[in-house]
Amino acid sequence: MFSYRHAFHAGNHADVLKHTTLVAILDHLVQKDAVLTVLDTHAGAGLYRLDGDYATKSGEAQEGILRLYGSPPADCAPALQAYLDLVRGFNGSGNPKVYPGSPFLLERLLRPQDKLKLFELHPTDARALAGNIAQLDAGRRIAVLSEDGFEGVKKFLPPPARRALVLCDPSYELKQDYARVAALVADSLKRFATGTYAVWYPLIARPEAHELPRRLRTLATQAGKPWLHATLTVKSSKMASAAVAGEGAKRPGLPASGMFVVNPPYTLKAALAPALPQMVAALGQDRHAAFSLESGG
Ligand code: SAM
Repeated sequence: MFSYRHAFHAGNHADVLKHTTLVAILDHLVQKDAVLTVLDTHAGAGLYRLDGDYATKSGEAQEGILRLYGSPPADCAPALQAYLDLVRGFNGSGNPKVYPGSPFLLERLLRPQDKLKLFELHPTDARALAGNIAQLDAGRRIAVLSEDGFEGVKKFLPPPARRALVLCDPSYELKQDYARVAALVADSLKRFATGTYAVWYPLIARPEAHELPRRLRTLATQAGKPWLHATLTVKSSKMASAAVAGEGAKRPGLPASGMFVVNPPYTLKAALAPALPQMVAALGQDRHAAFSLESGG
C-alpha cells in the first residue's frame, strides 16, 4: 500500500505552482457556458489542516503558501492573487488553518452545469475526500471514485459536451507513475484531442523526472497540439541530495517541480509570466531559485 500522504505536503511550493496554474486554467475555461467536465486523476483528501500534526511536522506549508499568504507581493500578479483569494475563502482573517486541495479549488470555480470526477486510491484519503465532499451537498455534480485514476479517466473521455480538463497529479511514489502519466496523455489525446491536460511532476534527480516533460512535449507535437511548460525551483537540488545523505539534516524537501499543459488556454502564458517571478522571490530558499516558462505548438 502507498505511504504517500498529501497532508504532509499541502500548501508547499509545488502546490503553489500547481494550484496557481490550475486556477488560471479554470478561470479561462469557465468563460464559455457549455458544460465542462473536470477529471482529477489523483485527488488526495481535498482539505488539509495547516495547524495539524502532518503539516506542522513537515513544515512545508511554512515555506510555501504561508510565505505568501500574510504578505503577498506588492502588485501581486492577478493569477497569484486569484489563487490566494481562493485559499482565503476557506479561512477567515488571521492565519490560515485550512488548505484546499485541487478538489476544493476546482469545486469553488466550477459552475452548476459542470461535472467534477475525483479519483483517489488510498483508502484513508478516499474516505476523507468522500466525507469532505459530502458536506457540500453537491449532488450529481461531483463524483468521488475510489479507483485507479490512470485507468478511470478512460470511461469519461470524450465527455458529452466535448469540453474537458484533466489534472494528473500523482505522488510518483512508484517509478512506473512517470510512464503511466505519459501513457495517459497519449491515450487521452487519442480519445479526445481537444481536451486540456495538465500534469504536475517533481523535478528531482532521477532520469524519469527529467524525461517526462520531454516525452509530453513530443506527444503534444506529434498530435499537433499546443503546450506550455512552467517550472519553479526554490533551492539547489545538490543541497537537497546532501541533506538526503544525512548529517543530521532535516528532511530534504523537494527542490523544484513543473507543470506541463497540453492544449493550454491561450491566456495561460500571459497569466503565469508575472506570477512565476513573484513565486521565486517569495519562496526561493537560495541563489538557485528560478523559474522557466516555455510554450510551443
Ligand atoms: N491533486 C491533489 C491536490 O492538488 O490537492 C494532491 C494529490 S497527491 C499529490 C496524489 C494522490 O494520489 C495521493 O493522495 C495518493 O494516495 C493518490 N494516488 C496514488 N496512486 C493513485 C492512483 N493510481 N489513482 C488514484 N489516486 C492515486
